[in-house]
Amino acid sequence: MSENLDDMYREIILDHYKAPRGKKPLDDKNVTSDGHNPSCGDELKMELKVDSKNNIADVHVNCKGCAISVASGSMLAEFIKGKSLEEVKKISEQIKKMLKGEESNITEDIGDLDSLKGVRQFPVRIKCALLAWVTLIEGVDKFEHGSKPDSFTVSTEDTD
Ligand code: ZN
Repeated sequence: MSENLDDMYREIILDHYKAPRGKKPLDDKNVTSDGHNPSCGDELKMELKVDSKNNIADVHVNCKGCAISVASGSMLAEFIKGKSLEEVKKISEQIKKMLKGEESNITEDIGDLDSLKGVRQFPVRIKCALLAWVTLIEGVDKFEHGSKPDSFTVSTEDTD
């Protein structure tokens, strides 16, 4: 990671990288989604337990990749737990926009996720940060359309 990344952002990202949240695999899950980021080689596996009220009861993220991809997945795991699918879809689209430098309209407190803004200074890293979010969006989409929760891998190359 570059020395130029804002100190505060860097500290938060490294904290998540060193101790990723949501590490524990779920016994009970109804969404699995795999993503990869060919431009950097990051691989991410995600599991979700969606309860009967369509809230994310639990989340597991296992990312093997660079600091940015791991930190982004960790922040995602921390942030989406307990939220509804509707909320999660909304925030995912906003985070995508934020990362791509498009106008986002985030009104809520997104906590550590705010530090991902720092990644925009490094265009080659944007897809690393996006990986967890596109994997989440794909997983939720498949869940809502009743697809079998396996047998697909989303790529950051498909997001444009
Ligand atoms: Zn990466």
